[in-house]
Amino acid sequence: MNVRFARVVCCRTGSVFTPRSHYPPEGVRAAAVAEAVALGASRAEAEHFATHGTAIVAQFHGNRPEPAWGLRFDMDALPLTESTDPSHAPAAHGFRSAREGFMHACGHDGHVAIGLAFAERLDAGDFPGSARLFFQPAEEGSRGAKAMLAADVADGVDTLVALHLGLDVPLGKVVPGIVGSFATTKLHATFQGAASHAAAAPQRGRNAMVAAASAVLNIMAIPRWAGSDTRINVGTFHAGDTVNIVPALAEITAEARSTDTAVCAEIRTPIPPLGRSSSSRLGRAPRDGGRSAGSPARRCCRRPGRRHRRGAEPVTLGQ
Ligand SMILES: [Zn+2]
Repeated sequence: MNVRFARVVCCRTGSVFTPRSHYPPEGVRAAAVAEAVALGASRAEAEHFATHGTAIVAQFHGNRPEPAWGLRFDMDALPLTESTDPSHAPAAHGFRSAREGFMHACGHDGHVAIGLAFAERLDAGDFPGSARLFFQPAEEGSRGAKAMLAADVADGVDTLVALHLGLDVPLGKVVPGIVGSFATTKLHATFQGAASHAAAAPQRGRNAMVAAASAVLNIMAIPRWAGSDTRINVGTFHAGDTVNIVPALAEITAEARSTDTAVCAEIRTPIPPLGRSSSSRLGRAPRDGGRSAGSPARRCCRRPGRRHRRGAEPVTLGQ
């Protein structure tokens, strides 16, 4: 099997309104390397993944010419603890995530299983053209595809197929297309204030929590858009350490979605200025941010009239 590494690096920035990133901290990655080596992996390859990201591209060549296919399999997990409720399908069938605190709530473990089984069949080489399999990180947060394309790993592919399990499609059915999905952009904001004792010297504090709370209310009040399905959400809010200290730091994450890519860009535009105006109450200039992470709306569908949407999932920040 001809496998090469994609040069995929998740961005890790920390200024006001920057792309979200769940790239694990160094200690977690070092532990993963040690575990992989203990299980028989090459140390050099394990350290490559820990440094450059977890994307894998596998290239297969058939025994007849043309075409060049590309097939994408998302493989990232979510920071959720797998339920032990008997009504939860894995619990009912006697399996669960091997990593406590993380699970494939979006079905990406199924994607990987499909991709590996497909790779085994392709390895025999009895097919026309070529096939390049993309095991892609970071669908959650909408950064993986962009990073892989930037690494030029899709160059030369004639037709690219991406699959996703679920999406309200009945068990046993395959639908060749999707319509009504959302373009999305994710934003992360840090509000830096100044701590002080809430009783002894509250006047010296710069309350980052209040600034962030103001930003949340203003973001949620952004008008929705006529003629297009839109969403605005602030999904996380973290601030403060203890009850008697003016909070010096607050962080929020927010997202905008629309079935129209241009509208998605429009409704997300006011979010950074709202954050900056709220942050200006802290008495210091907020740090400016970079570009957001996101993905365009998908509108093509080979079966007009069919409309498939993602089902209700717990904590689908990257969807
Ligand atoms: Zn997914």
